[in-house]
Amino acid sequence: MLVDLHTHSTASDGTQPPAELVAEAAEVGLDVVAITDHDTTSGWGEASEAAVRAGVALVPGVEVSCQAGGISVHLLAYLHDPTWAGLVDELDRARASRRTRAARIVAKLAVDLPITFEDVLAATPEGATLGRPHIADALVARRLVGSRDEAFARFLHAGSPYYAVHYAPDAVRAVRLVRAAGGVPVMAHPFAGQRGYLVDDEVVAELAEAGLAGLEVNHPDHDEQARRRGLRLAAGLGLLVTGASDYHGSGKANRLGQCLTPASVLAAIEEQGHGTGVVRG
Ligand code: AMP
Ligand code: FE
Ligand code: FE
Ligand code: ZN
Repeated sequence: MLVDLHTHSTASDGTQPPAELVAEAAEVGLDVVAITDHDTTSGWGEASEAAVRAGVALVPGVEVSCQAGGISVHLLAYLHDPTWAGLVDELDRARASRRTRAARIVAKLAVDLPITFEDVLAATPEGATLGRPHIADALVARRLVGSRDEAFARFLHAGSPYYAVHYAPDAVRAVRLVRAAGGVPVMAHPFAGQRGYLVDDEVVAELAEAGLAGLEVNHPDHDEQARRRGLRLAAGLGLLVTGASDYHGSGKANRLGQCLTPASVLAAIEEQGHGTGVVRG
């Protein structure tokens, strides 16, 4: 059984609408796909209908932007109740902060480059969670760079002078909120070093203590060392081990189904998740 538990649509920074994403998942032969847009569940409805049409199972999810001591942590949440106020409030707050943060990044870029916040809004799908990839798309549209990758390498990476942060809840608190909403929290790409600073093992242990269910060990941005560290930590802390592509459509090189989750691990996630169910076609 082929299970990919981490993908993005135009509800955040993926390049395909939810229905197209799910249709492609079926086309490439996946049996199960999760939609995990950044800080929003707005793609769930469209994705669910498409899953039923395409005959692929859909795991509704979200990738919650969090931080631990100022270090960015991405928390995947599966099968939570999307109306649960405690979590909804945090996602709303992060999305709002992402807009003012994008405006701050653009203001810094505009000192050196012909780019405006209107360019960014024009490059952002209606209602999407605003992220640096949309600023990258605006830079591409202005022909200032050739790709999202080049935009990140030159202007948008976390060490860039143009960088700015946005509000993100504390990761321990987020783990508790996801559990309270009936969801299953899994730490996304925990050891992808090229993204910036990484949390220590102690932070992962704290998250496990708070209710973390698993670690996304098998991820395109993880090298052998990151995978070994993830497997060792997961074994020591009794955490599930997942794998997923973190597919973003044409916005990234990651291919759908590039990394996968074993059926037994999906079964454990489904067992623990009671905010909503897997949509089966
Ligand atoms: P943000 O959510 O605004 O902090 O931006 C982070 C997002 O940018 C990640 O979720 C990735 O999807 C995307 N990203 C990071 N690095 C790159 C890259 N080199 N090329 C394309 N997308 C990237
Ligand atoms: Fe992304
Ligand atoms: Fe992420
Ligand atoms: Zn992601």
